[in-house]
Amino acid sequence: MSAKPKVAFFDFAGCEGDQLQVANLEERLVDLISHLDIVSFREIKTGHRDDYDIAFVEGSVTRPEDEPRLLEIRSSAQILVALGACATIGGINCLKTFISEREYRSTVYGPYAGRYSTYAARPLSAVVSVDMDIHGCPIDKIEFARAVKELLLGKIYIPPDYPVCVECKMAGNICRYEQGSLCLGIVTRAGCRACCVTEGSVCWGCRGMAPQANLDAAAQIMEEHGFGWLNAQDRLRLYFGCTNQGI
Ligand code: SF4
Ligand code: SF4
Ligand code: SF4
Repeated sequence: MSAKPKVAFFDFAGCEGDQLQVANLEERLVDLISHLDIVSFREIKTGHRDDYDIAFVEGSVTRPEDEPRLLEIRSSAQILVALGACATIGGINCLKTFISEREYRSTVYGPYAGRYSTYAARPLSAVVSVDMDIHGCPIDKIEFARAVKELLLGKIYIPPDYPVCVECKMAGNICRYEQGSLCLGIVTRAGCRACCVTEGSVCWGCRGMAPQANLDAAAQIMEEHGFGWLNAQDRLRLYFGCTNQGI
């Protein structure tokens, strides 16, 4: 890889919120740009070059024709980074997993449903090998900057494998279960400093299932606080639909 790595950003099915997070890094972005050669990033500059070392790819694969495009990116990039929940775990695009193709086609396209190609949404890793995941919906700006710094040092950033609850306790929050709310922090991968709970909401699971998550224990905690499987299932489907088909 060149001393100043060439970087390109790409998007598939998603809202571009993750790229906006990068664009919103402001003074940190200026610092990062001084260490990178950004050859393609349409949120902040015009023009495009195909001689990139690192590809940051946002969004899910939702159409058969996405696959050759993603394979081409994979073959050009030395390092491919999945950016955000849609890319890392399928994310909210996978909500369509839970209804029939006929239903989601007609909901989205109405009378023009037959004109568009679509198939079950999937994360990038279902099509190509992914070198690094940056989780979240949207990604966390601070974590992105940290991951890029690791790349510049020749390392791959590895996100925490423990649940959000660990960071939530460290932040000094009162557990939402004690306040009568359902929270997915008990099964979700940490790395966001439990920001949603700290800001007054609950964890919605946007960083995907924590590798160390204990689903049986989580189900028991939910049950003890009056949340049956149907409540939990409804919440889990928002982000975990692709990676956990049993939900
Ligand atoms: S992960 Fe969230 S912010 Fe990123 S593209 Fe998908 S919906 Fe948008
Ligand atoms: S369940 Fe939610 S509110 Fe409770 S400690 Fe875990 S992340 Fe925090
Ligand atoms: S608290 Fe939960 S929903 Fe909020 S950013 Fe962290 S993982 Fe995502």
